[in-house]
Formats: sequence, C-alpha cells, structure tokens
Amino acid sequence: MTNHRVIDGKAIAAEVREGVAREVARLESAYGFRPGLAVVLVGEDPASKVYVKNKGEQTKASGMNSWEHKLPAEASEAEVLAIVDKLNRDPAVNGILVQLPLPKHVNAEKVLNTIDPDKDVDGFHPVNVGRLWVGERTLVPCTPTGSVILAKSVAPSLAGMNAVVIGRSNIVGKPVAALLLRENCTVTVAHSRTRNIQSVVKGADLVVAAVGIPEMVRGDWVKPGAIVIDVGINRVPGEAGKTKLVGDVAYDECARVAGAITPVPGGVGPMTIACLLQNTVEAAKIQRGIKG
Ligand code: NDP
Repeated sequence: MTNHRVIDGKAIAAEVREGVAREVARLESAYGFRPGLAVVLVGEDPASKVYVKNKGEQTKASGMNSWEHKLPAEASEAEVLAIVDKLNRDPAVNGILVQLPLPKHVNAEKVLNTIDPDKDVDGFHPVNVGRLWVGERTLVPCTPTGSVILAKSVAPSLAGMNAVVIGRSNIVGKPVAALLLRENCTVTVAHSRTRNIQSVVKGADLVVAAVGIPEMVRGDWVKPGAIVIDVGINRVPGEAGKTKLVGDVAYDECARVAGAITPVPGGVGPMTIACLLQNTVEAAKIQRGIKG
C-alpha cells in the first residue's frame, strides 16, 4: 500500500466557512452591510428540503442574511418567475438559488436564465458560463470550485498536470474542466463515448470523476501517486437492507495506488455549501464593485 493521503473535505469545508465568516465581518465593518442569500424551494422533495434547511443554517452561521421562499408543488411557472424577478430587484438579496429539481411543469432552464447573472450563486447562467471560459471575474459553480480546492489542498500548483475529468455535464464536468484549464493543467474530458477510458485515466496526474456510476473507476485505472477527486454520490444497497453512499471511484482499490484521494461521504460533498457561501460573498462584492 502506498502512503496515500485522504483529503478531508469536512475539515477543508470548515476552513472555507471560517474564511467566509471573516470576510462577512470585514464587509460589515468596512461597508456597513451583510450579504444575503435567498433560496427558492418549489414542492416537497424530501432531499431538497434537507439541502435548503442546511443551506439556510450555514448561511446564518456565517453571519449572512438568509431567506427561504417556499412554493407549493402546484405553483405555476409564472409564480416562480415572479419570485425570481422580485429577488432580482431586491438590493438586500445578493445571491439567489432556485433549488433543483423543479416540478415538471416548470421550465427549469427558463427559471435559471431569469436570475440576474450577478446574483446567480449557482453559476449556471449562460452569461456566467461564458465569463468563466473567457477568464472574467464571475460566479463559478460550487461543486467544481470545491473539487479544485480539494485538489489544491495537496498540490498547491496544478500547473502542467495531466488532468482527466470524467463527465461533461454543465453542472460538474464542464466547469471543472474550465477551472483546471485556468490552473494550467492539460485537460482531457472523458464521457460516455470515450474509447478506452481506462487508458485515458491511466495517463492522469489528477482524476476528477463526475459520472454517477457507482465505483466505476477501478484501482488499475489509476496512475501511481495520482490525485483522485470523487464527485460521485450514489446510493447502493448496503448491509441489513440499508442503503449506503459510494462514489464514482472504487475507494479501497484506488486508495492503494493514489497519492491522495477524497472519500465519499466526507470529500467533495461538504465543499458544495461552503462554496455557495463563498459565492454569496463574491456576488455581493461584484454587485458593489468591491475588488478582491
Ligand atoms: P450527469 O448525469 O449530468 O452527467 C454524467 C456524465 O457522465 C455525462 O457527461 C456522461 O456522458 C458521463 N458518463 C456516463 N456514463 C459514462 C461512462 N460509462 N463512461 C464515461 N462517462 C460516462 O451527472 P452530474 O454531472 O450531474 O453528476 C455526476 C455525479 O456527481 C453524480 O454521482 C452526482 O450525484 C454527483 N454530484 C455530486 C455533487 C456534490 O455536491 N458532491 C453535486 C452534483 C453532482 P455523456 O455526456 O456522454 O452522456
């Protein structure tokens, strides 16, 4: 077994949150305002309710204002759009997050594209996607930002590394690729049509797996000493009829070869909300023209 390092996402997320709380306090004393995040929840999806509750609690814990707007599952698209419009115009609201999934009769793309790009703390608006790829100051999607922070926790410079991102979704794979390019990696994006994916991954100094297939990446795919970031969250049957969470990486096998690896749970997962809080502060600064 190599002397691999387990990347502690919980501890690093706590550091990010502490940094946010310090910045919130600095903004309040220097500029006299508190950043605020509004979350819109439509319907009763149990997982979404838990996420929204956690987001609200962590927003308040960092010293920011937090608002929840709850609509019934049968709310019309026009009602959802009206709330977004109201939040766009409210100067106390710096960040707007519409919790996905939305009910089927509501066009999620239309709703997300209605959010003011400068308040789009999820970083999904096409304007922010464009800003990310051209290298302008912008709001970057949270899970990708968290994944790159974790990689940099073990290798402060990723420059020159061969990075392989598995997955090309708009919410994870593509923004991770953009961020790694910005970090001066040589980036390969693998997906369901990639031929010989195992040998593609074997060439990587840094692997980011965002696929949604339990334990797809096997130990013999990984180059000895590589950094492995596992974004996957998959529920599979566990012991005694219970379900357990596994990533897109076969953890035990890969940990034997990797130089550093994130566990599931406790790796990328905790970073997402921490980066959302960071984005809310960044959104407030962008809106007020505050540098840095
Ligand atoms: P999507 O389903 O949107 O995208 C999956 C990607 O994986 C697609 O690009 C797809 O390729 C690719 N893919 C599918 N099968 C294969 C295969 N056999 N070989 C190679 N690539 C394949 O998923 P997301 O990006 O939304 O999420 C990915 C994972 O990350 C999931 O497990 C999700 O739960 C998790 N996640 C975790 C978050 C966190 O906070 N930690 C946040 C968001 C997601 P193609 O484009 O060709 O179809």
